Amino acid sequence: MSQALPETIPTTLFAERADAVAAAARELSALGWTPATSSNFSMRVDADHAAITISGRDKGRLGRDDIMLVDMQGKAVGTDARPSAETELHTQVYRRWPQMNAVLHTHSRTQSVASRLFAKAGMVRLQGWELQKAITGYTTHESVLQIPVFPNTQHMPELVARVDAWLDAGKPLHAYLIDGHGIYTWGRDMAETRRHLEALEFLLGCELDLRRLSA
Ligand SMILES: [Zn+2]
Repeated sequence: MSQALPETIPTTLFAERADAVAAAARELSALGWTPATSSNFSMRVDADHAAITISGRDKGRLGRDDIMLVDMQGKAVGTDARPSAETELHTQVYRRWPQMNAVLHTHSRTQSVASRLFAKAGMVRLQGWELQKAITGYTTHESVLQIPVFPNTQHMPELVARVDAWLDAGKPLHAYLIDGHGIYTWGRDMAETRRHLEALEFLLGCELDLRRLSA
């Protein structure tokens, strides 16, 4: 492994996080949600560092050596490897919420189509679905779950600013779509984050089916 670690991070801790990130990537890839090396995944290592996928690797074949360390500004630490172009979106989550420890970003067909369809409205408004309760803090299908759709850009500071603006307006945020691109979601651990991602994939698929069937 060409990853050198700061003295404060035990090798076993980084290895544990890297293995968890790689396992999640392989499993989500098997579902077809990470086409053509897209998507990126991370876990917090400590207050100042996260373990994140190295750019451009096949997510279906990911191992520990495909995960690298970054600081909370998204800069590589102890390696020449290049982190995902979207690393700043991951570290933004860790900076804003000290209790969040995992971030998953995928590009499934359902997420991609839904992001285009709902881009004009600027959000997907979910209500009446039992599975909304899979999102932490939602206890009833009657609640309204808003998933914003932000315009796509290759310039990450723009997206970071849109996420900040949404949060600074005091609106709850558990996930967001990027137009024509995919979804970001997060949680306190990998299991919660996986649950969020799976629920949102299912709910977006239901919304698309409803529109198809009621056309
Ligand atoms: Zn992406």
